[in-house]
Amino acid sequence: MTTVASLHTDDSLKAIDASHHLHPFTNTHALNAKGARVITRAQGVYLWDSEGHKILDGMAGLWCVNMGYGRKELINAAHQQLEVLPFYNTFFQTSHEPVIKLAQAIAEITPADLNHVFFANSGSEAVDTLIRLVRHYWSLEGKPSKNIIIARENAYHGSTIAGSSLGGMSGMHKQGGPWVPNIERIRQPYYYGEADNQEQSPEAFGLACARALEDKILEVGAENVAAFIGEPVQGAGGVIVPPNTYWPEIQRICKKYDILLASDEVICGFGRTGYWFGCENFGFTPDIMTMAKGLSSGYMPISAVAINDRITSTLLAHDDDFNHGFTYSGHPVAAAVALANIRLMQQENIVNHVHSDTAPYFQQRIREALKDHPLVGHIEGVGLLAGIALVQDKSTRTLYPDNIDIGLVCRDHCFENGLIMRAVGSRMVLSPPLVITHDQIDELCEKARLCFDLTLASAQQRCLA
Ligand code: PMP
Repeated sequence: MTTVASLHTDDSLKAIDASHHLHPFTNTHALNAKGARVITRAQGVYLWDSEGHKILDGMAGLWCVNMGYGRKELINAAHQQLEVLPFYNTFFQTSHEPVIKLAQAIAEITPADLNHVFFANSGSEAVDTLIRLVRHYWSLEGKPSKNIIIARENAYHGSTIAGSSLGGMSGMHKQGGPWVPNIERIRQPYYYGEADNQEQSPEAFGLACARALEDKILEVGAENVAAFIGEPVQGAGGVIVPPNTYWPEIQRICKKYDILLASDEVICGFGRTGYWFGCENFGFTPDIMTMAKGLSSGYMPISAVAINDRITSTLLAHDDDFNHGFTYSGHPVAAAVALANIRLMQQENIVNHVHSDTAPYFQQRIREALKDHPLVGHIEGVGLLAGIALVQDKSTRTLYPDNIDIGLVCRDHCFENGLIMRAVGSRMVLSPPLVITHDQIDELCEKARLCFDLTLASAQQRCLA
């Protein structure tokens, strides 16, 4: 079979890419000057590029390929479903087996009474759906003024207009506004970077950050607030793990003021923290949660919003349409793959395995490998997530000057040396596939150490230059 790749040399593919492809979250001018790296295949936790380099994927794609690449169970599920029913919608009072079974499977694995599921295609669409759902809920409850959603600084909730309005990453707000109104934000629980003073304990800081929610609610009026939303661990913001006191206090405050609690589980869902969902790791129970990525291990675009019985019963009590949905809501092939993915996770008992084996090993090894490195100010992580703060001076926590983009320097060294690590400003983040073995974790740590050495050398050269 002739494939597109085999028709073109590597260089001509790069040239075509530069001529016609606008990449997401990319400086296209800079990319076109050097050409994109063309990824050709993948297996397990490894990728290969068109030049034949083997690369350990420390990011599971984009935090999503949880069960690793090349899983026959998922490939076969897609193939079989494509043959039987490649598409039908779920709008016209119709349904199909994969979406029905997937909704049931999600209801079974989600905590408490999150028993109903709405499907979409991406994390951003799930977040948009969540915004519309919670506002609609309060409207049906006869409280339409409860429409403000409170989110956090440095949160990431997607890239659509609503997702970027909700998110708190400053770069996102520089382009593409104006934004969706009635969104408020509070501080993030980033202890290493934003503790109020040196004496403050993580526990006290966690409570202080949660109480910022109460302050905000009192400022805008509880009668105007629909929901609070947060990622259990901020992912795209740099893997920021809140102190243990944070989420239970957030839950208490939401209950006190009758505000819905929304957990954005797009990254933390599906075993990433060593629990099925991140909220279980942090001891809170949301009324509504978004999920995507790990739902299908990234094999198909699919996302979902799970809602609890309280919200569902209000929706069902009103004899009216919910005027929201996407052509591909509950796409049969995506649903079949997601279902096969959940079954595979269950068969391999992967969540328990991450919890009791891989995650403790990963957290220990990454610290052993990098904690004493001169570049490393701080390491935080949970499950198979880690965030590493790079600093110029450990004792004062001084960052490198702006003209040295230390994160990108490090990311490039990693890429050159067969490891994918992502840079978020001056933080390096890791989120490897859940199926990673101890040997592969060792390999990841060795590569990371080498790349940090190279990064330090590059930074020192630039400082001297
Ligand atoms: N929410 C969170 C917490 C995310 O991390 C992301 C993506 N990284 C999104 C929403 C948006 O997902 P997508 O890119 O699939 O639209």
